[in-house]
Amino acid sequence: MRTPLVFVALLVAINAQRGFEGDQVFRITPRDEEQMVLVMSLEDQEHLQLDIWRRPVKSDLIIDVHVPENSLQSFKVFLEHNGIQYSVMIEDLQVLVDDEKAKLEQVTMMERTTSSFNYGNYHTLDEIYSWMDSLAVEFPGLVEKQQIGTSFEGRPLYVLKFSTGGTGRPAIWIDSGIHAREWVSPASAIWMAMKISSDYGRDPFITALLRKMDIYMEILVNPDGYVYTHTKNRMWRKTRSLIPGKKCVGVDANRNFDAGFGGPGTSNNPCMETYHGPYPNSEPEVAAIVNFVQSHRNIKSFVTIHSYSQLLMFPFGYKCVPPADYQELEALAKTAVSSLTTLYGTRFKIGSICEAIYQASGGSIDWTYDQGIKYSFAFELRDTGRYGFMLPTRLILPTAQETWLAMKTIMEHVSNRS
Ligand SMILES: [Zn+2]
Repeated sequence: MRTPLVFVALLVAINAQRGFEGDQVFRITPRDEEQMVLVMSLEDQEHLQLDIWRRPVKSDLIIDVHVPENSLQSFKVFLEHNGIQYSVMIEDLQVLVDDEKAKLEQVTMMERTTSSFNYGNYHTLDEIYSWMDSLAVEFPGLVEKQQIGTSFEGRPLYVLKFSTGGTGRPAIWIDSGIHAREWVSPASAIWMAMKISSDYGRDPFITALLRKMDIYMEILVNPDGYVYTHTKNRMWRKTRSLIPGKKCVGVDANRNFDAGFGGPGTSNNPCMETYHGPYPNSEPEVAAIVNFVQSHRNIKSFVTIHSYSQLLMFPFGYKCVPPADYQELEALAKTAVSSLTTLYGTRFKIGSICEAIYQASGGSIDWTYDQGIKYSFAFELRDTGRYGFMLPTRLILPTAQETWLAMKTIMEHVSNRS
């Protein structure tokens, strides 16, 4: 019997990975606010399927946007008609996706221990979870894996605890991967976790730190989204939760915290990338962090890692009011990024979220700051848009290493005050 063609086509469509053949990433340089608003208004035109990679910020109006091949012509016509300057940063997004995938497939097989794990590559969720087990096995009495919750699709949410003992010690929290497509964020955190483990007992700084403080690292905050970026759509950002009665999937987990929930810089449209979700902490991935922070009152510093744009930010994002500790946070951020710059000359900007980018509500560090965690910071790692979310693997280690210098500066400051 012949299978109806329509049925076959449907199956293919369901199982297919979202392709990006011919898609381009534009860098748009609006002349003024008016042009910027004009371009940003296209985001609401759902048929264009524009995916904003970088939103305009106060200090510069540049917009990076991923344009599907089908929309290229009308998009260019629009820009040219309105006299808006642009350049094409990525000529064919699929070429970069294929390149990355080829490197990903070269790995595995031999990577059973942390010493053979390739820190200069991106990894699947399974590889990362089994690397966590190896790390805990190789550093007993220092590294422990704890499950702090379960994702929407039922995956365990893990925290690595680095501790030399004691109870209720002051602690530092580091997380990465809350936005699925920002692959260099977990990749850098993995390298830092290895660095912390192997430096203990060798490096005086980390040894002294771990005799006084604990470190918690949640390397994949959003495992469902991360798996989806590997299997279906490399450009996925949100969680994968299903909202009853809504056709679009997922919530922006970093708009889902209870800090100015639903305010500026979020969307109430489930089809948008910054959808805040039906209510605060609706995402199990967010609720797990909230519960953990509330039951670990010893956390003195909360650091979340994103990409891209090269920024180190502190509260607030939901309001444009300087936090009570503005001067100390600003000074610490400055010291941290100048340390970072010493390694490869990479430049980071600093400021409150509102100053450095734009008003954005429901973010994790605003919530933790309001909970009394003074040293709440958010990194946006490399680059500034040449590759954006498709940062080549050869830049993973330099990114991790320079970020570590900033992280150490923050840790030292926190440790001296705990
Ligand atoms: Zn992000």
